[in-house]
Amino acid sequence: MMTTADQITQNYHHVMSRIEASAVRAGRQAGDITLVAISKTFGPEDIEPVLQIPHRTFGENRVQESLGKWPELKSRFADTVLHLIGPLQTNKAREAVDLFDCIETVDREKLAGALAKEIQATGKAPELFVQVNTGLEPQKAGIEPQQVDSFLQTCRTTYDLPVTGLMCIPPVDEEPALHFALLAKLASRNGLAKLSMGMSGDFETAIELGATHVRVGSAIFGARG
Ligand SMILES: *Cc1c(COP(=O)(O)O)cnc(C)c1O
Repeated sequence: MMTTADQITQNYHHVMSRIEASAVRAGRQAGDITLVAISKTFGPEDIEPVLQIPHRTFGENRVQESLGKWPELKSRFADTVLHLIGPLQTNKAREAVDLFDCIETVDREKLAGALAKEIQATGKAPELFVQVNTGLEPQKAGIEPQQVDSFLQTCRTTYDLPVTGLMCIPPVDEEPALHFALLAKLASRNGLAKLSMGMSGDFETAIELGATHVRVGSAIFGARG
């Protein structure tokens, strides 16, 4: 009988081998692609087997939930790199800057201002990505593609924020490749090296289109309850 921990470990290795195969197909180095293991809704008992592999880069979508499990895990696995991949309210900016090593969801000027203030106050320097709403979905966060250049300019000049990448979540019912290609184009023309795109269902396509970070949850941890 395989335990849940064994299953998660096996899933992880399977995802890694798919990442490597996609990199080879795309003529890229697998080492240039970071797997961000999305552990939202899963507890320390499911996260620990992945830390033991050892894997160190994880993503969460809620600040509050992350505060409940990551301070303890981070104290035992000190080189953990934690990404915030969900919407961030300005009143949680301080906690986010304290806990997260990368905030992938910078999506409005008010948040840029709040992050700049907390980065100044705490002396921490999380990596920052701008979320782009490539599908122009009203219910989804993110800067519209036409506004990306000017928003990045504002982040740099008004707030002195060193944004290094872009992130997107394509609409569920559309061909993701079109969205990944658009994100890659926006990043390239703004001189940004990092591209967070691709989830369990489409990370191979994302790698072929230049993803440097793939955010994979269910393919590793199983279905979320
Ligand atoms: C949950 C989530 C993921 C992971 O999705 P899976 O389909 O489980 O791999 C990736 N990105 C974001 C922004 C998410 O919220």
